[in-house]
Formats: sequence, C-alpha cells, structure tokens
Amino acid sequence: MAVPLVEMDGDEMTRVLWALVKEKLILPWVDLKTEYYDLGLENRDATKDRVTGEAGRAILRLGVGVKCATITANTARKAEYGLRALYPSPNATIRAILDGTVFRKPIALSCIKPSVSTWKKPIVIGRHAYGDLYKAAEMAVPGPGRVELVYTPAADGGGAPGGSGAPGGSAQRVLVAEMPGPGVVQGMHNLDDSIANFARCCFRYALDEGLPVWFGAKDTISKTYDGRFKAIFQHIYDTEFKASCEKAGVSYFYTLIDDAVARVVKGDGGFLWACKNYDGDVMSDLVASASGSLAMMTSVLVSPAGAFEYEAAHGTVQQHYYRWKRGERTSTNPAALIFAWTGALVKRGEMDGLPELAAFARSLETATLATMEAGRMTGDLARLVEPGPVTALDSWEFINAIAARLG
Ligand code: NAP
Ligand code: MG
Repeated sequence: MAVPLVEMDGDEMTRVLWALVKEKLILPWVDLKTEYYDLGLENRDATKDRVTGEAGRAILRLGVGVKCATITANTARKAEYGLRALYPSPNATIRAILDGTVFRKPIALSCIKPSVSTWKKPIVIGRHAYGDLYKAAEMAVPGPGRVELVYTPAADGGGAPGGSGAPGGSAQRVLVAEMPGPGVVQGMHNLDDSIANFARCCFRYALDEGLPVWFGAKDTISKTYDGRFKAIFQHIYDTEFKASCEKAGVSYFYTLIDDAVARVVKGDGGFLWACKNYDGDVMSDLVASASGSLAMMTSVLVSPAGAFEYEAAHGTVQQHYYRWKRGERTSTNPAALIFAWTGALVKRGEMDGLPELAAFARSLETATLATMEAGRMTGDLARLVEPGPVTALDSWEFINAIAARLG
C-alpha cells in the first residue's frame, strides 16, 4: 500500500474484535499502512474530542477510512468511565465534516431466508442525512390563534452560510393554520445544495455497484417541498449522470413513496433505495431486521467530495463485552466489521491502482461467506439458519475458521 487508510479504533466488544480481525485476517496477507486514530471513549475524553475531528479531516485528505463502533456518551457512560465531559456522537461529528450520504447494505446468505419471501438480492438504503424532521423547529400552541411561516431575506441580499449565494428575493408569509384550540406545529427545511449532493452520492454509489436507483417521495401532497426533491433528483440525473448510467445499464425510477413501499415487499430486491431522511431512518431498520440480523449490515458514508468511510452498522455490543471481561468467550459476530475492512481495502485498491489489494479483500469476503454457508457461524445466525439447528462458534473459533479457509 502506498496511501494509508484512516483507521479509527473504537470501544467495547467491537474493539476486542477489531484487533483480532486485523491480527488474524489482514496483517498476515497485507502490507497494511494506516493512519491510526483512537476513537475509544477514554481517548476522546483525554483529547477533549479533538481526535474525532482529526480523524474526520484525515478521511477527507486521504479518501478512505474504516471505523470501529464507538460509544455515544450519555450520563450512565460518564459515570462508568469517569468522563470529564459529554461529547457528541463521533458519527455525527464525522458526518458533519464529510457532509455525506449513508448507504446500508445487508450481507446476504443463502441459508438465511429474509422475512420477505420474494427478496432474492439485498436492498441497499441510501439515507439523506441532512435536515427535515432532524433539524425541525417545533412549538406547542397553548390556545386559539394564527400560525404562519415567515421568510425574511438576508440583509445583504443573499450569500448566507450554506446558501447558494443567490439573491434572497422578497419576503414571504404563508398561513399554516388558524388554530381553533391548543395543538402542535412544526417547521422543517432542507437545502437545494444538500439535496443535489444526496442525489450525486446515490448515482455515484449506484454506478459503483451496478444497481438500479429508486427514489420515492410524496410530491402529490407536498408539491413544493417533496416536489423540490423530485425535481432536483431528476435534474442531477439528466444533467450529470444520464449518459454514464445508460452506458452502465443503471436505471433511475421515481415513484410515490407509498407505491415504492408496496413494490419493495413484492419485488426481488437488488436495487438502491434512495430515501429522504425520515424514510431512511425507518426503512433501514425494516430492511435490516427483515434481512436477518443487525450484525450482518454494512454501512458506508460517501461524501460529495469523493471520500468514503466504512463501518459496521451495529454498536459496540456492550453486554457481550461485560461477559468477555468476566472471562467468557462470546459468540459475537464480526462479519460486518470484516466487511468494513474489505470495503475500505477494495476502495483503496481501486483508487491507487492496486488490483491485488482489491482482489485480496474480495477473497476475504468470499472466505467469510463460504465459512458461514458451510454452517460455521456465530450464535446470532445459528438461530436463524434453515434447516437448522447449527452449532454456534465463538468469535475466536469463527475467525480462525475464516483464516484457515483464506490460507
Ligand atoms: P448494539 O451494540 O448494536 O447491540 C444491540 C444488540 O444487538 C446486542 O445486545 C446483540 O444482541 C445484538 N448485536 C449487535 N451486534 C452484534 C454482533 N456483531 N454480534 C452479535 N450480536 C449483535 O447496540 P446497543 O447495545 O444499543 O449500543 C451499545 C453501544 O453502541 C452504545 O454505547 C451506543 O452508543 C453504541 N453504538 C454505536 C454505533 C456506531 O458506532 N456506529 C451504532 C449504534 C450504537 P444480544 O444481546 O441479544 O446478543
Ligand atoms: Mg432507525
């Protein structure tokens, strides 16, 4: 390797497995170069969380990062670890630096049937990670009165931070409701630039993976808001991606979100489902649980600047960690962590013109899948196999079985 990977270590059981995966499955085969950032909770606290920002900027600089799961601190963790302060979720900090779209893809096994019987290929969710409900203003209204939306153009005529710099136009006022009694109101927003970058990330990912793109919104009801999402998506497709998508056989399909949902549970999968922020939050949990196990879900953050951050979708598997600390050999599934590493190595290999690096990563994926298909797997999956039951391995036995197959 010439250019290093940004390696972000983490917490608890995933930290234990991180070291094991590296030692047994990567270092014997790859001349690994990484820029190492310890995002474990203790080091984040000791560095006043500086290390998280440094890691995020390193991903922008080097192009590819791989991250272990990390604890998002709360008051219980503050007491447990004797923390000096409560810093934000590292994923939120890194996402803000990379301004990206999160893609979640299940790792499919033929011996584990999805709950939706028609699904033959994985469904990838691309979630817009900015705005809407997640940056909304809300208000409880105590009694009768008028609620309005008010727009006041910036005093300098435009160019506010995060804006396109276009002139602000004239002031606007829209009636939300004449409230006859107490109730609640909400104001949401999104930005044209963010929607356009969301669309770009989705089309780039789809081209990379050779997947059709579906996008669903509710533009019949929300003509201005969801209508803008639909129009920007179409515009980005037509002006920036149509030619390359047609050449690669990658189609783009827009439909109403409720029609999309109906088609998803009747279809055979194998597409990228671009989702608005809230739809992505809900549908990624639906797809994860219907596909088998949270431990089989991979996640990649793709930035509009062309940087990639790979991780497992699950957390630090806290309860397994406490059992491991008491001396138990847990049966924690390292598959999504392994696939985070292979995703990052494939991307590094492609970017740097190192086909043997990408080929190694692919063969590690094949060995991991073949081990599980042969009935050697961790407890979370052994429960789900049909026809079962299968004897569960602990994490160490499972990783050794993959290493043996890789050899
Ligand atoms: P979690 O770590 O994902 O674990 C929830 C449960 O899912 C586990 O108790 C386990 O079920 C099962 N599970 C998850 N991953 C597994 C694996 N690899 N192998 C086997 N089983 C697995 O979620 P959590 O317990 O809600 O969160 C723990 C910590 O993780 C929190 O401090 C949270 O802040 C952090 N977190 C980090 C990230 C991230 O960095 N991306 C994401 C989510 C949460 P059983 O106990 O039934 O075996
Ligand atoms: Mg959710």
